[in-house]
Amino acid sequence: MQDTFHRQINYLRIAITDRCNLRCRYCMPATGVPLKGHQDILRLEEIVTLARVAAGLGITRIRLTGGEPLVRKNVVTLVRELAAIPGLEEISLTTNGIFLGTMAFSLKEAGLKRVNISLDTLKKDRYRYITRCGNITSVWQGILAALAAGLTPVKLNVVITRGFNDDEILDFARLAREEPLHIRFIELMPIGTAAASGAGYVPAEEIMGRISRIYPLEPLPDLATSGPAVNFRLDGGRGSVGFITAMSNHFCSRCNRLRLTADGKLRPCLYWDGEIDIKGPLRAGAPEAELAAIFTRAVSLKPAEHCMKNGWRQSRAMSQIGG
Ligand code: SAM
Ligand code: SF4
Repeated sequence: MQDTFHRQINYLRIAITDRCNLRCRYCMPATGVPLKGHQDILRLEEIVTLARVAAGLGITRIRLTGGEPLVRKNVVTLVRELAAIPGLEEISLTTNGIFLGTMAFSLKEAGLKRVNISLDTLKKDRYRYITRCGNITSVWQGILAALAAGLTPVKLNVVITRGFNDDEILDFARLAREEPLHIRFIELMPIGTAAASGAGYVPAEEIMGRISRIYPLEPLPDLATSGPAVNFRLDGGRGSVGFITAMSNHFCSRCNRLRLTADGKLRPCLYWDGEIDIKGPLRAGAPEAELAAIFTRAVSLKPAEHCMKNGWRQSRAMSQIGG
């Protein structure tokens, strides 16, 4: 599919749940967000149908996200069914990693290619603070299991917040040098609770500067799996560091993605409230050609670029859109 700005759209991010076992401070309020009823959330077979339609339109890669995708019942079966769809070359997943220790091998066996694991600190107490309830030991078990299962390259998503974890930038860089882990520093976006709290965003250029003063950064080629990150190897190290500059230098001109929310809305842009309902027509028995037309319409509505710097004026949290 091509949008009105001549971008090829071949990547679909699917939020398979709006529920989460953590309450990260920049993502959700302590009490969580109002959850949709089970009947409002896409059933697994509905997700598979929509993925098949999307694959018929040229979507080749799907990422499962949420909420926390691993709290969704039968997620392994979902991965198996998605992996069997002709034309889908890669199924990946973004997770907080808490349940990955016990699930990594079955996910790999079902056809999952790789995982991104969110980990904003290497310190046990800080991890509990930022997630409000998480145990970092479980995340490490998840990371080790992902490596052992071959869900590679294993990427760690690290959101840097000034005054919270910006003193750990070099610790993460060292980790990427010593282990086969790919650290992706993500600029904090003013979305949901992060918008309300005004928590401090740190520009990627500053993070990169701090790392390059200690470790020479060797640019890595742009791979299909790099997404919006610009990646570097550190001084011949085993892993890499990447920077996602959603705020300081947006990558909208290279955007190749569409989002499907847990309650069945196609969302042309993370930071734009326009959504198109596809669950209603699906449940009303629309034929696949009609569903395909809804996908095409969503793609045609993609804006040229996001307007994050104008502030967040929307009703949804990141966990409801699928970060
Ligand atoms: N629960 C899963 C997890 O945490 O990996 C998947 C969903 S979560 C919404 C996806 C990613 O969005 C995580 O890496 C998280 O750190 C990131 N995220 C959430 N709120 C954010 C914000 N305001 N700015 C930047 N990244 C954010
Ligand atoms: Fe849950 Fe992920 Fe949001 Fe943290 S970032 S609260 S793990 S959805």
